[in-house]
Amino acid sequence: MNIHEYQAKQIFAKYGVPTPKGIMAESVEQAVTNAKELGGPIWVVKAQIHAGGRGLGGGVKLAKSIDEVRTLSEEILGMTLVTHQTGPEGKLVQKLYIEDGADIKDELYLGVVLDRAREMPVIMASTEGGMAIEDVAHDTPEKIIKVAVDPAIGFQGFHGRELVFGLGITDKVEQGKFIKLAAALYKLYLENDAEMIEINPLIKTGEGDFIALDGKMGFDDSALGRHPDIEAMRDISEEDADEREASEYGLSYVSLDGEIGCMVNGAGLAMGTMDTINYMGGTPANFLDVGGSANAQTVAKGFEIILKNPNVKAIFVNIFGGIVRCDRIANGILEATKLVDVHVPVIVRLDGTNAPEAAEILKKANIANVIAATDLADGAAKAVAAAKQAK
Ligand code: ADP
Ligand code: MG
Repeated sequence: MNIHEYQAKQIFAKYGVPTPKGIMAESVEQAVTNAKELGGPIWVVKAQIHAGGRGLGGGVKLAKSIDEVRTLSEEILGMTLVTHQTGPEGKLVQKLYIEDGADIKDELYLGVVLDRAREMPVIMASTEGGMAIEDVAHDTPEKIIKVAVDPAIGFQGFHGRELVFGLGITDKVEQGKFIKLAAALYKLYLENDAEMIEINPLIKTGEGDFIALDGKMGFDDSALGRHPDIEAMRDISEEDADEREASEYGLSYVSLDGEIGCMVNGAGLAMGTMDTINYMGGTPANFLDVGGSANAQTVAKGFEIILKNPNVKAIFVNIFGGIVRCDRIANGILEATKLVDVHVPVIVRLDGTNAPEAAEILKKANIANVIAATDLADGAAKAVAAAKQAK
């Protein structure tokens, strides 16, 4: 789960990570009131969406008067902000953050992410902070310092020294401030089951203070149960509507940009199915895992959600019956064709528990549009062919 910048900054404050003063606003009037309360003389009006790159997209702007705060708030609130992280459709701006303008001398980058290969959290830092950190990572990766911290020993002095020496921070007082901040960030990461924290830019002011000017945080969904305070920060309006609807029915759904809808059980089989579709020359339109408790209703719901995507030209149902029995899925498919207008070819491969019964059910029903497949390769090939034909 992701949270907004203003929420990330509330958490930073709890851990002693300095941030500029700011107040969230949901209307232009509120934005103006906030600006007056902050006092100025310089404010920053910032779009709050769950995506970065807002500055380059026109979602972060500097105001030098209350009038300017009003004009900029009118402009940004309600706009569809397109950044390199939102996709071409962009995101509607429903909240603003009005913040004190900071005195920027240097823009650095500081983050913590889980490095799966090293099986440890890694603190990443760079002197090249600001809006183009992705380019830095791509063109000059040596400018990003990575310090892995073994959770068994925690953040130690040598981790801090590795960071400040790597960044070329030579002033003793500044070194102390930076190390304290990095240690706090690591603590925040661990204590809240975060998946990633990013401060970009972390600025150095004219007075040698480090301040988090931006904040991004993602948390492990499976651990939210032990962090009710973080779960309360969820902003449903920022999440994909189809993915949310699917989760209400116990389905794991991720929308992608291809043309073949996939209905599978188990994440491993989902990955294998998507790979095989790619191998056969097609592209998956989604990832839908019906899980182990699938029944006719959930399968029907799955079809409904997949078919909402106008790019879907064929659906590949690839189920390996174990806990979920194939005859139930077959009945689900029959049910779905009654409840939903399944207007694209459905390629069905059912194997495992009660597969012969399932084949019998589908054969008897003899539904136009439903094509039987013998195995994964056959199913993927048929789905790719059907999608190509539909074009
Ligand atoms: P994003 O990363 O989504 O573009 P940021 O919060 O990093 O959004 O803002 C973009 C840029 O705007 C920053 O790199 C910084 O230069 C400037 N900026 C952001 N907040 C402030 C602030 N409070 N004072 C001065 N400049 C700011
Ligand atoms: Mg930023």
